[in-house]
Amino acid sequence: MSFQDVESRPSPIAGLGLFARRDFAPGERISPYSGTVTGQPPSEASSDGKVYALEISPGRWLDGSSADNPSRHANHACHPNAELIWHDPESAAWLTALQPIAAGEEITFDYGFSLAESLFHPCACGAVDCAGRIIATPLRPALRRHLRFSRPRD
Ligand SMILES: [Zn+2]
Repeated sequence: MSFQDVESRPSPIAGLGLFARRDFAPGERISPYSGTVTGQPPSEASSDGKVYALEISPGRWLDGSSADNPSRHANHACHPNAELIWHDPESAAWLTALQPIAAGEEITFDYGFSLAESLFHPCACGAVDCAGRIIATPLRPALRRHLRFSRPRD
């Protein structure tokens, strides 16, 4: 892997996105998600409205907002082609391909947001069944219930 394997450029999903510059095979490491591990969520919402803080295990957060994190522009998508894997022995997280990724494709992963977090973070991934919010895959049915019950009656 080298930093030339990915590049940041404007994304149809949001702001800058992370794009593959070569093909990746399923399970292959794409690029490191470097940052600082803390015991609490770093303060929300950077100036560009993006979120770079991810919960890597219960109560442990990785703040990837540093400009030298090559993966910080990777967007969330409802059908991501990559996942973020935390490797304890290396104390490092890697974006890892979930499926074959072709050169030029945008690299996305599931931010794993809670229901509460999702309410503040719209998703614009473009999938026909987009949940409309950035939320962890297993929580999507709960989000749909929440939105149904919170919709004003007319
Ligand atoms: Zn979506």
